[in-house]
Amino acid sequence: MIGCDCEVCCSTDRRNRRRRAALLVESDGHYLLIDAPPDLREQALEYRMKRVDSVLITHAHADHVFGLDDLRRFNTLQKSAIPVYGGKSTIEDLRRIFDYVLRAPEPGVYRPEIIFKEIAAGQPLACGSLKITPFNVEHGKMPTLGYRIDDSQGCSVAYAPDCSAMSRTAIRELAGLDVMILDALRDRPHGAHLTLNDSIALLQHIGASRSFVTHLCHDLDHAATASRLPDDIDVPWDGMTITW
Ligand SMILES: [Zn+2]
Ligand SMILES: [Zn+2]
Ligand SMILES: [Zn+2]
Repeated sequence: MIGCDCEVCCSTDRRNRRRRAALLVESDGHYLLIDAPPDLREQALEYRMKRVDSVLITHAHADHVFGLDDLRRFNTLQKSAIPVYGGKSTIEDLRRIFDYVLRAPEPGVYRPEIIFKEIAAGQPLACGSLKITPFNVEHGKMPTLGYRIDDSQGCSVAYAPDCSAMSRTAIRELAGLDVMILDALRDRPHGAHLTLNDSIALLQHIGASRSFVTHLCHDLDHAATASRLPDDIDVPWDGMTITW
């Protein structure tokens, strides 16, 4: 947190140094990025990202989309445009925020080549060999999607980094998951995010083989939070890789 001297912000535990949330999924050589946070450039450099074949956006809050411009480097590397998927209002917001992306090319202007694509909850789509199932997530008043991703080997992961509640329909889409990653902002209630205890309860209801809480704020120390969690729920850290 900018300008904060609390124990977590001053911690020497690198796992307490959290950049804004995103997830990169690789399967059969296809690299799927979920959300493009303002830290995307730094994350791409530190974790040596070499490709982004498609992008899913959960919602258009700044902490999830303000890194979208950095996709232009992947356009150059891959010599192709990149599809960016999101719900109807998310894509409307992105077309407004990144209006320069949609204008006719101007000499000397280096900008991303993005193909915006509208998707909807309950209507699966394919990215490479991955099957994506969007589901509705409550996140205060912000229209938000979570994503379930199933690969060709039967492995599955779902991601809902910003969530205050989930409908029964959404929870039904999450049956039989290998990995579930869910919002847990802090212990104090927040109108648009789950508390840690509410997140644990929802994760246990969803029942994935392994679960993670993400989007933590500086109220939650990494080690102290991890020690409060059941065995099958963990706190991830920046750059953590899960192989399934
Ligand atoms: Zn702090
Ligand atoms: Zn948000
Ligand atoms: Zn967020």
